[in-house]
Amino acid sequence: MSEVNKGYYMSVCHRCQDETPTLRSSWFNTQMLCPACCAEEAVHPLYTHAQQVEFAKIQTGDYRFVGIGLPDDLQRKYPFK
Ligand SMILES: [Zn+2]
Repeated sequence: MSEVNKGYYMSVCHRCQDETPTLRSSWFNTQMLCPACCAEEAVHPLYTHAQQVEFAKIQTGDYRFVGIGLPDDLQRKYPFK
């Protein structure tokens, strides 16, 4: 990324606080995550469970489900600010 664009299109990851050009929502909670944090979620043992619970909630018409919550190990790694 060029110096001109630096800082212009960047957002801050809600979890690791790193700057990132792209954010995606977490499967575990309502945080918006950088690609590195998304990748970390994708290999987490509870990732598939989090997706299954969310799909099940949507099927019952519950669109306000906010996720199963951040797993303990990730909470310890990224304590809420
Ligand atoms: Zn991050």
